[in-house]
Amino acid sequence: MIPFEDALRIAMQNASLGSVEVVGFEEVVGRVLASPIFCDMDLPPFDKSAMDGFACRREDLNREMRCVMVIPAGTKPDRAIGPGECARIMTGSIVPDGADVVIRVEDSSMIGDLVTFTASKTASNICYQGEDAHSGDQILESGTLLTSRHVPILASVGAVNVEVYLLPQISLLSTGTELVEPHLKPEVSQIRNSNAYQMVAQLNAMGIDPDYYGIAPDNEETTRQMIEEALENSDILILTGGVSMGEFDFVPRTLESLGVHFHFTRVAIQPGKPTHFGSGNGKFVFGLPGNPVSSYLTFEMLAKPFIYKCMGYDWTPRIIPLKLGADISRKKTDRMASLPIRIGADGCAYPLEYHGSAHLLALSQADGYISLPIGCSNLKNGSSIDVRLF
Ligand code: AMP
Ligand code: MG
Repeated sequence: MIPFEDALRIAMQNASLGSVEVVGFEEVVGRVLASPIFCDMDLPPFDKSAMDGFACRREDLNREMRCVMVIPAGTKPDRAIGPGECARIMTGSIVPDGADVVIRVEDSSMIGDLVTFTASKTASNICYQGEDAHSGDQILESGTLLTSRHVPILASVGAVNVEVYLLPQISLLSTGTELVEPHLKPEVSQIRNSNAYQMVAQLNAMGIDPDYYGIAPDNEETTRQMIEEALENSDILILTGGVSMGEFDFVPRTLESLGVHFHFTRVAIQPGKPTHFGSGNGKFVFGLPGNPVSSYLTFEMLAKPFIYKCMGYDWTPRIIPLKLGADISRKKTDRMASLPIRIGADGCAYPLEYHGSAHLLALSQADGYISLPIGCSNLKNGSSIDVRLF
């Protein structure tokens, strides 16, 4: 059994980056930049009015000004503003030479072509050329996980073809003769397969569309065939169940017989102890525990950072410090425990009623979880704790 930190380090050391491909900027959400993006022009590209109003010289604000032109957005002013002059200007229009301020329509009155400033002070109301970024500036670095917030900046600099890392091919397998698919009503002794769908959802949230290969029954020959097929077609295989000490838990030896070498097979975490991680023939395998909360958490704690690293992204969990809203205690302290918590309206973290690694209702109610390190048997109400958000 190795500490969690060692397991994570080993997994991360083994992660390998895929090659790159070019995709259209409309399709980049969830992908990771493989080369930096540079500005091809100043942003904003010209001194731009931030208001509808009149462009003029600040020194003329205390006198009547003559309106000499109208500058609609998308047009180029054909003259400069001289002393005592102003131009009707729209939001997004070029501020004409000679003007250093735009007064708002609301702060002015116009009679005929004569304009007066009616307020006592004004901001410049000009977005200056290059104030956001200059032509040639690097605006996004390689390794950026692209979101909807990056699409508009890509569009603005004309980065219509974007180099990103390939997504890994991921195969999923559930194991256990007792499992039936969720649309079926389980017979006595059966339970519904939730792990496969939970992992599809976890991977979808990372922008990955995995291939699900079904339920391998507790039969060594069939399991071997299904693992072989799933391994063949993927970079990473994730299985759940069949990795404990039971008589039918032959997933590890089946994988070994197919050339997988395990880097760890037991991690000092609760839940999640029998988590396996191995590699062979250029492929990676996670054997996660069968109990659904265990497989959910071990995916989050170990598989997720590993997969992100294979995608070129240096992911770290979102952790916030909060006050604990209740006492927590436990007897055995030989493993790092993960406990689901809910954040209350008072901003404190409350441990959820949690019956253990099959308690999916607790997982569904959790905002995140906290870790009790090895050796830590209790935490006092009011103490500061790090909450890892889902
Ligand atoms: P195992 O690790 O195969 O011994 O499974 C541990 C527990 O998790 C057993 O109660 C299994 O029935 C349950 N389990 C295993 N796989 C799944 C799954 N795909 N969905 C829901 N529960 C599962
Ligand atoms: Mg099983």
